[in-house]
Amino acid sequence: MMLTLIKNAEVFAPAPLGRPDVVVAGGRIAAVGDNLGRGLSGELVQTVDAGGRRLVPGFVDSLVHIAGGGGEGGFDTRTAALSHRRALGAGVTTVIGALGTDACTRSLRELYGTARQLCASGLNCYIHTGCYEIPPPTLTGSVRDDMVLVDSVIGVGEVAIADHRSSQPTRSELAKLAADVHVGGLLSGKKGVVCIHVGDGAQRLQLLNQVLAGSELPIQLFYPTHINRSRELMLAGWDFAKRGGVIDFTASTTEMLLEMGEIKASVALRLSLQQGVPLQRITLSSDAQGSLPHFNPGGQLDGLQVGDIASLHGAIKEAVSAEGIPFEQALATVTANPAAILGLPAKGRIEAGADADLLLLDADSLAVQSTMSGGRWLLHEGHWLARTPFDHADAK
Ligand code: ZN
Repeated sequence: MMLTLIKNAEVFAPAPLGRPDVVVAGGRIAAVGDNLGRGLSGELVQTVDAGGRRLVPGFVDSLVHIAGGGGEGGFDTRTAALSHRRALGAGVTTVIGALGTDACTRSLRELYGTARQLCASGLNCYIHTGCYEIPPPTLTGSVRDDMVLVDSVIGVGEVAIADHRSSQPTRSELAKLAADVHVGGLLSGKKGVVCIHVGDGAQRLQLLNQVLAGSELPIQLFYPTHINRSRELMLAGWDFAKRGGVIDFTASTTEMLLEMGEIKASVALRLSLQQGVPLQRITLSSDAQGSLPHFNPGGQLDGLQVGDIASLHGAIKEAVSAEGIPFEQALATVTANPAAILGLPAKGRIEAGADADLLLLDADSLAVQSTMSGGRWLLHEGHWLARTPFDHADAK
């Protein structure tokens, strides 16, 4: 078995660990500790001298429209599928794929196939069953069966609330759907996640709070996203998080959305920490390949941009450089926190036994220079290494 020994890196697990050696074997982190390299030499050991750069867990992006999304301005506004190189080059090694508004021209089978394709390209990829609507589309005929019978399925979503594009779900419809995910999770040994797309409607988190008040469902089953959409929604999100819930901020944005009242993910993170929201209940996701609509003053759609998976890395950089958040805290919101909330204990951490999904970042610019996924370097010192039949090493 080939071993990789990484030396002289500032290791963030995401907690700062100093400069221990990190040994990778069989796709996992075998050991983290001082002077592990002493007994390791020979042809079967690849030694990487990090030269003081930062070694961090690969990012876990909890919401990506991997097969494409959009379509809300007609067929010409459908968006493209995720490029695995775009993800890996921006430090993301695990993605959760989901459908959105369009479950008519897009399907869960296509989502599943795209997830498997991305896995073959070296990304770790899971999916949610369902979409914005209740009743949701499924692969097997029921959400519970999808959870139990399909390994890649870890939850349902994005289920839309407080949005004109939602199916206007009732309290009991949402509670029943969440119960299916919860029980399906119990039966399959998965945590079970109900990913909630919160729109710009005045109801905000009201439906979610009603479901929790009128059921025995645990608050951490729900994972509401786009909480940085407006200041009013942030207030509702802080209340939700202080009662034990988790909240997610969307990193992809546009100048137009910011002018309309959206709060940058990096700013939302700082404000939330200042409000006393526990760090482990906050995550960032990219919403990559989703459409970001522009409206003219008359309220009509006049253009779209596409969410970018690199926005996650950008938000972390901004959180550190512009908002003064300690690097390890910003890092936790895209590594250990989403991994724990999604029930992926081997992801998002640097510790013995965890999956070897690792990044080497420049110590100053935080630029991604190398990406390892499942113990293999896919991007190494700025060079791509071939992985799929369509991948040519170093192709742009
Ligand atoms: Zn959404």
